[in-house]
Amino acid sequence: MDITFLGGAREVGRSAILIDDQLLLDYGQLTADPPQFPVSDPEPEAVVVSHGHLDHVGAIPALLKGSRRPEVHWTPPTSDLTRTLAKDTLKLHGNSPLCPFSEEHVHRLGEVGRRHSYREPFPVCGGRDAGGYVVTLYNAGHIPGSAHVVVDDGDTRVLYTADFHTDDQRLVSGTTTRPDADVVICESTYADVRHDDRADVEQRWAETVRTATWEGGAVVTPAFAIGRTQEMMLVAAANDISPYVDGMGVEVTRLVRQYPEFLRDPEMLQQATSNARFVSGRDGQRRRIADGNEVIVTTSGLLAGGPAMSYIPAIRDQPTNLITLTGYQVEGTPGRQLLKTGRCELDGRVLPVSARTELYDFSAHADRDGLEAFLSEYREAELLLNHGDSCVDFAEELCAKGFDASAPELGATIEVWSRPCRTLELLSTLSNSEPEVWHPLCGVLSSVSGPARAPSRFDRNDVWNARVNTPALPCSLTDSRLGSLVEDRACQWTNLDWAYCILLRIRCSWHQGSIDWRPTTRRRLAWVESHTLHHTRHRRIVVTMHTMTTQFATQTFPMQITTA
Ligand SMILES: [Zn+2]
Repeated sequence: MDITFLGGAREVGRSAILIDDQLLLDYGQLTADPPQFPVSDPEPEAVVVSHGHLDHVGAIPALLKGSRRPEVHWTPPTSDLTRTLAKDTLKLHGNSPLCPFSEEHVHRLGEVGRRHSYREPFPVCGGRDAGGYVVTLYNAGHIPGSAHVVVDDGDTRVLYTADFHTDDQRLVSGTTTRPDADVVICESTYADVRHDDRADVEQRWAETVRTATWEGGAVVTPAFAIGRTQEMMLVAAANDISPYVDGMGVEVTRLVRQYPEFLRDPEMLQQATSNARFVSGRDGQRRRIADGNEVIVTTSGLLAGGPAMSYIPAIRDQPTNLITLTGYQVEGTPGRQLLKTGRCELDGRVLPVSARTELYDFSAHADRDGLEAFLSEYREAELLLNHGDSCVDFAEELCAKGFDASAPELGATIEVWSRPCRTLELLSTLSNSEPEVWHPLCGVLSSVSGPARAPSRFDRNDVWNARVNTPALPCSLTDSRLGSLVEDRACQWTNLDWAYCILLRIRCSWHQGSIDWRPTTRRRLAWVESHTLHHTRHRRIVVTMHTMTTQFATQTFPMQITTA
């Protein structure tokens, strides 16, 4: 399976991942001036969408140009949110080069959209028998309808986490499922952040807001329309605060309430909706609200547009007024500028803001601890980190902890294998280039998967069988030719690379905890430990081996092998 990162690699925004040139996961835009789109214009057979945020769906209608009609698979809320966002993009940038699609393309979404619930596998690109896949969506706990996407081609299982949260929010429950996977493409937005306890953040926000209004001030709470606005409505309701709600969040609230099965507590959102007052924006309504000592939840969350552009100028010159930002403010946005300088660009003019500005972390993403807890379930998988500003550092830190992790570059294609497939790949290379090592291994495979055969006659099923029957292997291996090769110090290092690669892959990766290593094997491994591998011919294989041995070492005894 080939995985190509067309966007969202070592960056946040324009997420787009292409599998085998035929299945596209997400197709978003990066909010910037001008907006940026994925690095190529793919023509997939099918598309699966993780969730309805602009950086994941912002360019989806552009996939329906000309005669192209790939099926687009998503949850019902994601389908509706994509359409809402597309219409907003048309309103902002329609008929300009800043918008890569037209109203016609948005209309076509109705023809190609296929709605799915969580945990219901469905075939895409013809299904597995026709060279396609079976895809399953699982709750990702980020916003209503957000999904982890599992793609299975019958051999390799890829888990694309997309954006997720491991903790409960008031709007949606956190992710709890950890589907089996050979490869995990994991977001890392907050890989270098630890969130404060959510209950504390809420309490601080509510107290500050109450104090500000008691003292006669107005409070503006900028919030993203999708997810954050509803979350702030719920937080307000739980703390007896009745906010005005303005901007696209009003429509989105109505939209997500149609899908109670994708909400943590539909009843609570109903109460929060009754508790809030929605703003139409007609007849100077915003001005009147801004002049009262009211709480206003409004777009945009980064102060980069929306009705916030009416409220902030109206309240900015009174120090009794308060602006409570509700999440991370991206570099280069007016929100970031306000936090850093106390000044803010409003309608093209940079103006001083005397109103107090405070930042509260109501994030819908897992933080460092959440990411690590999630990934601890995937110690044997290959990890590809994306969707973050520090993907490379995070990958290095995970490697140091024994994971097989990397951070692909924008535009990179990564070839991935399932565990049995990778083993088979190693075995077949070995059968050609290192017959001396191959033959005993061939015997091992034969012993667990039927009569001896020529190397070329083993297939994936044999490797799976070897996995299932692995507990029987250590005894036969200690007496095998492989065993003596390991002890034979005159043996070529390259042979040992191969031998151990296979040995460790078969014996450790699948049954790490259950093998009781014999003293002789321990001695052999200790001998390997005292050497450093230098192997440049097949770097990938050595890297795999490195990972295996590191994992192995953390469980049994220290072992350091440095790769070329
Ligand atoms: Zn998101």
